[in-house]
Amino acid sequence: MRNKRNAPRQPLSQSRPKVVSKKVVLPPKKPKISRGAPAVAKSKRTTAIAAAPAKKSSRGLASRRAPAAQRAPEIFARLRARYPDAHCALDFQTPFQLLVATILSAQCTDKRVNMVTPALFRRYATPEALAAAKPEELEEMIKSTGFFRNKAKSLVGMSTAIAEHHGGVVPSEMQQLVELPGVGRKTANVILGNAFERNEGVVVDTHVTRVSQRLALTTNTDPVKIEQDLMPLFPREQWTLLAHLLIEHGRQICVARTPRCEECPLSDLCPSSRV
Ligand code: SF4
Repeated sequence: MRNKRNAPRQPLSQSRPKVVSKKVVLPPKKPKISRGAPAVAKSKRTTAIAAAPAKKSSRGLASRRAPAAQRAPEIFARLRARYPDAHCALDFQTPFQLLVATILSAQCTDKRVNMVTPALFRRYATPEALAAAKPEELEEMIKSTGFFRNKAKSLVGMSTAIAEHHGGVVPSEMQQLVELPGVGRKTANVILGNAFERNEGVVVDTHVTRVSQRLALTTNTDPVKIEQDLMPLFPREQWTLLAHLLIEHGRQICVARTPRCEECPLSDLCPSSRV
């Protein structure tokens, strides 16, 4: 073991430099040049954005940052201009036919339902006739719409209730409709809005749910809560048409997998826009 005295000496060139006490004079700080928002602390910046008045879009109207209530009228106007023929896609002549078609449309396309209903309406023209249908025969006629056993039960149950408790006439009140077997609030809204021209609520289906969420008109996922969010944003007389417009937009542009934001008339009003 070598003692401290015998340790090899460090060459002069590698020895530690002497510390020279010298005051370093730094150049004066340049002011930061901001390219976007002013350079403020993150928390302050968030507050600033929230407090800032909503900017106008390129069309001079509410921007995508504006509250839903501010964007809603313009959203409705643009959708109505884009889909002037938006209407109920189910074929029907009477409230009873629409009720049957709407029950069949669960988990099925309107196009498929429209292929099935003409023969069904000929065979069972009234609630009394459908109430007396043989299950096997009815199931066979509606088989292609899917879930045909449950749907057949709902159709017979609904028809029996109308025949026995409403004199064979479809009721036009929400409460009476939702008490019918197989009829929920969504189906009741379809009947009231399209067969009775009564705006009692907004039909919330899968398209209305998706498009409303992307447009930040709602943050809810439950259809009843989504309906409650939408109703105060639009005048009552627009509720039925609103659902048709959102459904049409969901089918044509704001499709489930990859929305076509680049051709969307709402892109400057939509917080989810990819353009
Ligand atoms: S901008 Fe895109 S996400 Fe928004 S509504 Fe249009 S298609 Fe849907």
